[in-house]
Amino acid sequence: MKPPPRLVIASHNAGKVKEIGDLLGPLNIAVLSAASLNLAEPEETEPTFLGNAALKAHAAALASGLPALADDSGLEVLALAGAPGVVSARWAGPTKDFNIAMQRVWAEFFAQKDADPAARFVCVLALAQPNGDVATFEGEVKGKIVWPMRGNRGFGYDPIFMPEGYTITFGEMEPHQKHLISHRAAAFAKLVQFWS
Ligand code: IMP
Repeated sequence: MKPPPRLVIASHNAGKVKEIGDLLGPLNIAVLSAASLNLAEPEETEPTFLGNAALKAHAAALASGLPALADDSGLEVLALAGAPGVVSARWAGPTKDFNIAMQRVWAEFFAQKDADPAARFVCVLALAQPNGDVATFEGEVKGKIVWPMRGNRGFGYDPIFMPEGYTITFGEMEPHQKHLISHRAAAFAKLVQFWS
């Protein structure tokens, strides 16, 4: 399938729209944000990344009559049965304080004696067409959680996530280095492959 000439980014997060726009830049696609089209923001009611990404993309494609792209992502800790997972953003509370979220991850992990710190970041991209077709692309980066928090780069859970094969956290890593190996980059590589 060829890339569409115009694509709605089904997110009201300006940072995410910009990041996705940058990633799509080389493909010559005109990117429109859901906010600029006054599209409603659906509630993320599904229990999976895939379900929520598909729900957001589908709603934006139907409302705009254009292809729409959405993403859903989060941190899964093996010893916590995949938590915080799809509710990764919610663990930061109403003030979106990720220090609180990271402390909770570590407290719940530490409460389990000798637990395995294995973790992964997951990103699912969903591309929806106005006719209802939806294609999804999943990327992951494996690693482990570490304590104390390290580094002040990146966002969210980056200061406690150390990717496999590295001795620094995402919070300490240069952004361009993170973008080469991240779950989001892996999902985008699959989308670009789909369009080539
Ligand atoms: P959403 O996909 O906008 O619902 O947000 C998912 C949440 O997962 C974010 O608010 C972050 O807390 C977390 N998350 C997703 N990707 C990353 C990442 O690359 N680094 C750190 N945290 C992330």
